[in-house]
Amino acid sequence: TEAYLAAMEAARNLNAFTVATADKARAMAERADARIAAGEAGPLEGLPLGVKDMFATEGVPTTACSKILDGFVPPYESTVTDQLWRDGAVLLGKLNNDEFAMGSSNETSAFGPVVSPWRREGDETPLVPGGSSGGSAAAVAGFLCAGATGTDTGGSIRQPAAFTGTVGIKPTYGRCSRWGIIAYASSLDQAGAFARTVNDAAILLRSMAGHDPKDSTSVQLQVPDYEDAVGASVRGKRIGIPREYRVDGMSQEICELWDQGAQMLRDAGADVVDITLPHTRYALPAYYIVAPAEASSNLARYDGVRYGARVPGRDVIDMYERTRAAGFGAEVKRRIMIGTYVLSAGYYDAYYLKAQRVRTLIKRDFDDVFAAGVDAILTPTTPSPAFAIGEKTSADPVEMYLNDVFTVTVNLAGLPAISVPAGFSADGLPLGLQLIGRPFEEETLFSLAQAIE
Ligand code: GLN
Repeated sequence: TEAYLAAMEAARNLNAFTVATADKARAMAERADARIAAGEAGPLEGLPLGVKDMFATEGVPTTACSKILDGFVPPYESTVTDQLWRDGAVLLGKLNNDEFAMGSSNETSAFGPVVSPWRREGDETPLVPGGSSGGSAAAVAGFLCAGATGTDTGGSIRQPAAFTGTVGIKPTYGRCSRWGIIAYASSLDQAGAFARTVNDAAILLRSMAGHDPKDSTSVQLQVPDYEDAVGASVRGKRIGIPREYRVDGMSQEICELWDQGAQMLRDAGADVVDITLPHTRYALPAYYIVAPAEASSNLARYDGVRYGARVPGRDVIDMYERTRAAGFGAEVKRRIMIGTYVLSAGYYDAYYLKAQRVRTLIKRDFDDVFAAGVDAILTPTTPSPAFAIGEKTSADPVEMYLNDVFTVTVNLAGLPAISVPAGFSADGLPLGLQLIGRPFEEETLFSLAQAIE
């Protein structure tokens, strides 16, 4: 714990943490020492972790990196983090993220951008760590914590993991409780873990997962011992390579990385087959309707009355307007406007309902492939390596949204997926491969990821 606290202090320039909880961390580490001495150690006893600022942490400021939650200190703990502390983990602090987890570069945070610990070879240009869980990815990659929590609504664990050479697992929708996690898009949001190895990610997920009566969408299924799956044989597993993911303009190095990953799985005894997921090209537009629609509804609660910041006004309506105008950043306002528009009378059928139908077709594509005997699907995690800070914050927000082309399908279909470091770009940046699994078969992903790692 002391070593990580010192590393956090020395790496303040990365802006990975929004709050350091040094006193709390030391008290938790002492408790861990006592439990170890008493022979009562939990599976994570004394393990120092960072927590994305989307998770409510009792007595510790939680803002979703938005000005509108400035000053909010939750009187409760999220179920996922509660389970980590139950198992002995230590809280080092809260991790920076895109405001309300909306973004792919961690540049929309009220705390400012996170800087990746990585640089291109011979080039000091500061790079993004990816987003929205950019603080989690940078902190794990920079050895500022042993592991971290993240949330993934459209790729926010997997894309930053790929950009920083870390492992990121997004489990099946319903595997982890969403209770106490600040909602972005409730039908897509899922908690998951960042770690430096597949084995560490398996250990963390085992503690985070499980049924919770406080979240009606969490499932009543036994949590397997994921660590057992790491190193298990993948002989005879069928791996699908979806032809639709070979998108126009995909770089040569990403194509080669993908081929190498497939070869590693073949060498480990898996069968690699070509598959088709015909509705893939509609996933990004469907996601960028469904997610803002749910966000506009979820973010209606920030009214200056219940939580965080308030800007006084002439009357209550004026107070709402001033609070929301000052409290939300530009990207969040854009999502609220898009969401409100696609849900409004007259446009609901044309946009929202249509996007929901597309979502069903995307889910069916996956169902068909799995029914035909495919155990997992291999794709690149991202279409490119990490980019420079400021490079994609242009006038056209769609440029940023295109980063999510390989990750959003998984959330629309509720499936588990993992990003595993698989190689480097020509200029020395980490690249990741994504494995997508059948519902609630995270174990298969851990076994396969280990064969690539
Ligand atoms: N980049 C996507 C978005 O902005 C995904 C974010 C996430 O998974 N939280 O919506």
